[in-house]
Amino acid sequence: MYDLVIIGGGVWGTAAALAAVEARHGSVLLLEANPYVAGESSAKAGGIVTDLVWNAEDLSWVTRSRELFAAAQRWSEDNSMIRHYGMLTLFSQSQAELVQRRADGLLDKGIPAELWDLNQIVRTYPELDRVADGVRGLWTPNDWYVNPTAYATATLSAAVAKGLSVKLSYRVKSIQVEDSKVLIEGPGETLVAAKVLVAAGTWTRKLVQTAGLDIPLRPYRVQLASLNFPVGHHLPILWELVSDMYIVPDGEHNLLAGDGTQLWEHNPDDYQTTGDDAFKLSIAQGVIGLSSRAEQAGLRSSWAGLCGGTPDRRPLLGAVTDRLYVACGDEGFGVMRGPAIGELAARLVAEDAAVPHLNPNRHPSTDFTIRPGFTLEE
Ligand SMILES: Cc1cc2nc3c(=O)[nH]c(=O)nc-3n(C[C@H](O)[C@H](O)[C@H](O)COP(=O)(O)OP(=O)(O)OC[C@H]3O[C@@H](n4cnc5c(N)ncnc54)[C@H](O)[C@@H]3O)c2cc1C
Repeated sequence: MYDLVIIGGGVWGTAAALAAVEARHGSVLLLEANPYVAGESSAKAGGIVTDLVWNAEDLSWVTRSRELFAAAQRWSEDNSMIRHYGMLTLFSQSQAELVQRRADGLLDKGIPAELWDLNQIVRTYPELDRVADGVRGLWTPNDWYVNPTAYATATLSAAVAKGLSVKLSYRVKSIQVEDSKVLIEGPGETLVAAKVLVAAGTWTRKLVQTAGLDIPLRPYRVQLASLNFPVGHHLPILWELVSDMYIVPDGEHNLLAGDGTQLWEHNPDDYQTTGDDAFKLSIAQGVIGLSSRAEQAGLRSSWAGLCGGTPDRRPLLGAVTDRLYVACGDEGFGVMRGPAIGELAARLVAEDAAVPHLNPNRHPSTDFTIRPGFTLEE
C-alpha cells in the first residue's frame, strides 16, 4: 500500500509530488497517463508568469512559484527554463482606472510597474508601430516566460531522486474510496493507497465521479498559435487588454499568440485540439494590428487546450471526502501559480488540513457560468 498516490503529472501534480517527498510523506507514487509529464494543458501553455493578477492570494502563489521555478532551473541547470522578457499590458482609456489601481497595488508591494504613453511604448519597442492613438501601456519588468515542460520534467527528476515512484503511460480508470484505503484501478491492476490526490487537470472531475462523488469544475477551451518571424523581432510579453490577446516571445524568430478563449464547457476526452480558422484569422489580424513587421510573419502551428473553471474562479484544493483530495480549477493561469499550489495541496494532504475558501465542496456541483480567471477584474 502506498501512503500517497498522486494522479496527474502536469505542473500541479509534479509540484505536489516533489513537495510530498520532501516532506517525507512516506511512500509516494505519481501516475501519469502520457509517456511523459506535462503532456496536456501544461505543455500547451504560453508560459506567462506575471504579478498582474486580481487576487492577493494569487499574487502570493506567483511569488512562491517564482522561487520554486528558480530552484528547478538551478538544479536542472537548464538556463532556458526562465526568460526575463518583462510584460507590457496595452490598454485603452476605458480601462485606465482599473489598470492604474492594479499598478498602484503592485507598487505598494514593492513590485516595479510603470505607466507608459504611446511615445514611450514605440521608443522602447519600435516594432509596435501600429499601436493605436490613445493606447497606453503598463510595463511590469519583473514578468517572465517559464517553460512549463522543462519545469515539470526537472521537478519530476528531483522528486525521483528524493524517493518518488512513478508510473508513466498509466491511465487511471477509476477510484474507489473505502474505510481504511483507496483502490485505484489502472491498466490491468488495482493499486492501494492510504490517500489519493487527483491533480489530473480538467479530467479531475471525471475521476472524482468514478468514486461516486462530484466537484464543481467545468473545462473550457483556450487556443494558442505559434508564429514564425523570418526577420526576427524584439518584443516583450504583450497583453492587449482591448481584445484580450497576448503574445509571448519564443526565441528571436517565433512568437506565441493567443486570444481564443471559449467560455463554455468542453469534454477533455473529445474536443478540437487544433486552432479554429476564426482564431487563426483573428490572431493574424491582431498581431498585424500592432506591428507592420508582422505582415512578414507566418503561422507555424496552432493548438487548443482546456482550462478548469470553478464557480468563484478560485481553485479546488483539499479533501472531497476522507482520503480523496483534489488540486484543480486552474482558471487559465495555472502555470504561474502551479508550483505553489502543488506545494499547498501536498501540505493539505499530509496534515489532513483544509483551507475553507478553497475547499472543493464549498459550492454545489451544479452548472455555473464560466468566467476567466486571468483578468484584471475582481
Ligand atoms: C492555450 C493555453 C495557454 C495557457 N497559457 C498560460 C500561461 O501563459 N500562463 C499560465 O500560468 N497558465 C497558462 N495556461 C493554463 C495552464 O496551462 C494550466 O493552468 C496548467 O497547465 C494546469 O496544470 P495541471 O497540472 O493542473 O494540468 P495538466 O497539465 O493538464 O496536467 C494534468 C495531467 O493529468 C493527467 N491525467 C489526466 N487523466 C488521467 C488519468 N486518468 N490517469 C493518469 N493521468 C491522468 C494528464 O495526462 C495530464 O498530464 C494556459 C492554458 C492553455 C490551454
